[in-house]
Amino acid sequence: MIDHNSMIMGYPLLRSNRRSISIKVDKNGKVSIHAPLFVPEADIRRFVAAKQAWIQQAQSKQLLKKELAPKFAVGETMPYLGGEIRVCTGDVRNPVLTGNVLTVPQRGKPDQHTLKWLGLQAKEYLPPRIAQWSKVMGCTPASLTIANPKTRWGSMKSDGSLRLNVALMLCPPALIDYVIVHELSHMVHMNHSPAFHAHVDRYLPDAEARRKALKQLGGYLTFFREE
Ligand SMILES: [Zn+2]
Repeated sequence: MIDHNSMIMGYPLLRSNRRSISIKVDKNGKVSIHAPLFVPEADIRRFVAAKQAWIQQAQSKQLLKKELAPKFAVGETMPYLGGEIRVCTGDVRNPVLTGNVLTVPQRGKPDQHTLKWLGLQAKEYLPPRIAQWSKVMGCTPASLTIANPKTRWGSMKSDGSLRLNVALMLCPPALIDYVIVHELSHMVHMNHSPAFHAHVDRYLPDAEARRKALKQLGGYLTFFREE
């Protein structure tokens, strides 16, 4: 049950069959208060009042993240395998990379041409990297799918099907390797247990540093999307 009309200190209050009060700050910095059905408004007000500093901090964090997330734009540079390439439109049938300039057709959407081009590069770049790690780690995925989901770099199913995000092509090779090793390790441990992390660390002793670096590049996942 949601009561859309209720506001607490200027924030929408959403009541539902939940156990505790919580405050959510979305990626645009919008705040909402979530509370159990029968908690008195005075209690909720007290809770929110005590969290003002936290709310402001969470809002600026989200807005900063949004500001820092790179977005596709013609004429600007795009990260690519640890370097940068500039994307321009020109009189070409298909995207062409010359030096560090990628020229995409004038017709159609430049970002979609670029994304498609990245997909083709991913199909060439990723399989040999996967093959190399498969050999080292002694496990080979059953299949590879390259897609562009907006929330994850990769996934591994228990049947051995590996999915990798085309946005990995925007990352430095060391971080791509981390994602491959991470996903291949799921063929041994289908969880994120200490044993799983130990498995990853065995092949990449600096896995934790790579994981953190990759987290910083989370904005690449939505590089081609209007938010
Ligand atoms: Zn995982």
